[in-house]
Amino acid sequence: MDFELSKEQRDIVKAAREFALGEFPDRAAEFDRDETFDLGLLKKACDLGFVGVFIDEDYGGPGMGFLEHCLINEEFWAVDPGMGQAILSATFGSELLGLFGSEEQKKLVLPQLVSGEAILATAITEPDAGCDVTGAVTSAVNNGDELVINGAKMFITNGDLANYLLVFCLTDPENPSRHGRHSFVLVPTDTPGYESTKIRGKLGIRASDTAEISFNNVRVPLENLVGKEGEGFYELMAFFNRTRLHICAQAVGLARGALDEAVRHTKSRKQFGAPLASFQVTQFKIAEMATWIKAARNLYYEAAWSADKGKIDHALIAMAKWFSAEMAVRCSDEALQMHGGYGYIDEYKVQRIYRDAKILEIYEGTKEMEKTIIARSILG
Ligand SMILES: Cc1cc2nc3c(=O)[nH]c(=O)nc-3n(C[C@H](O)[C@H](O)[C@H](O)COP(=O)(O)OP(=O)(O)OC[C@H]3O[C@@H](n4cnc5c(N)ncnc54)[C@H](O)[C@@H]3O)c2cc1C
Repeated sequence: MDFELSKEQRDIVKAAREFALGEFPDRAAEFDRDETFDLGLLKKACDLGFVGVFIDEDYGGPGMGFLEHCLINEEFWAVDPGMGQAILSATFGSELLGLFGSEEQKKLVLPQLVSGEAILATAITEPDAGCDVTGAVTSAVNNGDELVINGAKMFITNGDLANYLLVFCLTDPENPSRHGRHSFVLVPTDTPGYESTKIRGKLGIRASDTAEISFNNVRVPLENLVGKEGEGFYELMAFFNRTRLHICAQAVGLARGALDEAVRHTKSRKQFGAPLASFQVTQFKIAEMATWIKAARNLYYEAAWSADKGKIDHALIAMAKWFSAEMAVRCSDEALQMHGGYGYIDEYKVQRIYRDAKILEIYEGTKEMEKTIIARSILG
């Protein structure tokens, strides 16, 4: 068993960290406060090769693995989660397109994501269909010439910025199996009838765009169906088994950022005539955080490494996603606690980290759903 990253992977980590440290700290508070982002930074990250590293060479990417994308996520999120998400979510959906898209769809979309000319988003969640994805009612009706889409999607990352959207649609409502009713459809967002409304007031990752989407007779050619009609649910599960790896890396990065802040503060802040770091209670918290981070990283390294070898272990991925997300929330809580009242005000970075952490337990499968997957894999 070899836990060492290769020289190339170590170089990626170093470059990603240098980029994030160079670009993020000066702007993170502004983007968080204003709920905005500078897309010039996405382009810069693309030019430097940080975006879409898992995309095949045939489609403009360097053809690396999901592990490399995880490594970049971890470094970006360690410096600022919101900005990390604003940049690296631009390819969200390319994992699905890579697995199930037609040659034409992949040639059209994937190279533009790597170069930063386009943003892809994926719309599954609806106002009345969250964890229960099979409850999605946004419909795509085949009228013989086109697919006509009607409905609404909720909480869509980059919904207000994306050039293309992968939409999880109801295509066979009468199918006796709830798992055979849906299909993915590729929608250019400049198609008439597509409307997005930015959602404001998020708790965290406020640099990342989130929107509500409505489809009012949105017409796309039949060849915009992605994968097989009626297979959307299974394609979605395959997609999540890749993208959840990235969430694990986000969580480990965020927790590292929280630990850094805790170490910095407890070494400098004195009470009872001594630095907070000299008290055993503080030392135990620091020791626990460092250990949780290491455990979560080992879990996601194994899950991502296996996925890149073609072995998808959905229970392991669910374990890694639940554990790392909860670990990140706990670390950010402990880090804020060690700041006392200072952690409660926005002048201190730890407040932002604390707010950013919570999303990790919600998106791409809530922690309850992850535990359900794990339990089913054991109990049958
Ligand atoms: C910032 C942000 C970005 C997002 N980006 C995207 C995106 O790009 N694309 C997209 O499609 N969606 C996106 N989402 C949506 C996200 O995936 C959903 O919010 C999530 O899946 C939960 O769905 P819900 O909010 O409807 O909660 P609900 O499904 O209503 O769940 C509420 C609570 O009930 C629990 N629960 C539900 N069912 C069960 C059960 N059977 N057993 C036990 N507990 C249960 C859940 O775990 C949760 O704790 C995003 C959300 C946010 C906040």
